[in-house]
Amino acid sequence: MSDAIEQLCNFIDGRWEEAPDRMAAVNPATGGQVAWLPKSDRVCARNAIAAAKRAKTAWAAEPVWRRANLCVAIAARIDEQRSEIARTLSLEQGKPLVQATGEVAKAADGFRLAAELAKQTRGETLPAEDPSKLVMTLRQPRGVYAVVTPWNYPVNIPVEYLAPGIVTGNTIVWTPAPTTSMAAVALMRAIEAAEAPNGVVNLVIGEGQTVGDEIVSHPDTNGVGFTGSPETGRRIAERGAGKPRLLELGGNGPLMVFGDADLDRAAKAAANGAFSNAGQICAATGRVLAHRSVVEPFAERVARHARDHILGDPLHQGVTMGPLNNANVAAKVRQHVDEAVAGGATLVTGGRPRPDLGSDLFFEPTVLTGVTREMRINREETFGPVVPILSFNDDDEAMSLALDSEYGLSVGVFTENLGRALKFAEAIPAGIVNINEGSTYWEIHLPFGGGVGTKSGVGRLGGRFTLEAMTEVKMISITRTH
Ligand code: NAD
Repeated sequence: MSDAIEQLCNFIDGRWEEAPDRMAAVNPATGGQVAWLPKSDRVCARNAIAAAKRAKTAWAAEPVWRRANLCVAIAARIDEQRSEIARTLSLEQGKPLVQATGEVAKAADGFRLAAELAKQTRGETLPAEDPSKLVMTLRQPRGVYAVVTPWNYPVNIPVEYLAPGIVTGNTIVWTPAPTTSMAAVALMRAIEAAEAPNGVVNLVIGEGQTVGDEIVSHPDTNGVGFTGSPETGRRIAERGAGKPRLLELGGNGPLMVFGDADLDRAAKAAANGAFSNAGQICAATGRVLAHRSVVEPFAERVARHARDHILGDPLHQGVTMGPLNNANVAAKVRQHVDEAVAGGATLVTGGRPRPDLGSDLFFEPTVLTGVTREMRINREETFGPVVPILSFNDDDEAMSLALDSEYGLSVGVFTENLGRALKFAEAIPAGIVNINEGSTYWEIHLPFGGGVGTKSGVGRLGGRFTLEAMTEVKMISITRTH
């Protein structure tokens, strides 16, 4: 490792600052080091919280038009820097450049959407039983938001909190996943270029157990926005106990394919939801439940899509699938697939790591049939390019398999029978059910989140739902004195 490699910094109170220690940023396609990142301690996190606290009163007092204008300016800077941000994202996260470019374009849209919606946010006047009272509600910012984000969409997911957070008058302390902190710096540069006031958005890079823990638990942060694994989500809920929070956690499908389904459509959706971003999507296909009469033709169609993928360095033209992001996720994918095969599942295609492509993190797009209920690949989130297919005999068994899950994020149901589709849509405790569409369909103004009683999270992100979640309703009553 060479000291000529660029050293990146935290962004605190409008200044780029080094941390007491550093850690390496690695390109997952080659294993080579690409930058030095700050490895922040709790003091760095506390400095950022103090800056956000100093900024919060003035920022909350700004008219919403001024805050919306900042979001529009950030969107413009993101658009200007799109290719640079996308290149950094692709280099460090591992997704093909074309997917990274799409992600960055959506990030700019997220800031524009927040600006639009903020101007329409309103309170109400409410009737009162007491004739002397006039009662109204205001929506107010909560103060300092702690935002902790994962590595699978390292530009878009932060924007889901940053844009609604700042447009509603909150200030932010944000810590990204260590393996995608370069993308966070690239996004932060666009926010800086838009001249966000000092302290409104602060970026602190480091390990989650240190920086993330400090910002969610510190008494001067007033709300928490977290996207990541259910395990970390549970810990954050404990450490941030009492604070309003949005927790966007893991998912595991299912995609359901009934005997009357349009198999071409269903297979395309399954492949798209399992192979884009190498399957590292919370709303990924996760697992497929297919009627036994269609398992074989469906699996063959998905396998055709799998074989069409070109694996390789995500910055190379024509590559459609890059490496997995890190060693933990790669180990889990290998383990789930190997255990399923050892337990009797059949590999229709794929199933092997491809270290010959440049690093241990490449894994072939994979389709498995003969997956059973108790296999880990069915029970747990795999988060890789795998379509595990379970077979059912009738609607009752399909329902039993669908309900037998700890997750409840996003589901796809393929059938021409609308009554059946609605029965499943209403019964499955997921936040999203897409009928005749894959589990990944969502648009940034629509509600997204985990179903109640599941491991998939609490609250709803998306458009006005996030603006509501990141603000507090205050009731004001006025007494008529004459
Ligand atoms: P993770 O939980 O390991 O890490 C997420 C973030 O939490 C990182 O920034 C990490 O540094 C931080 N962190 C880790 N330990 C912490 C602690 N003790 N206190 C505070 N912060 C801590 O998750 P990941 O591996 O980065 O992301 C993958 C997971 O995220 C998957 O389960 C995926 O389904 C989920 N996810 C969910 C959504 C959604 O919207 N529901 C979207 C994307 C990803």
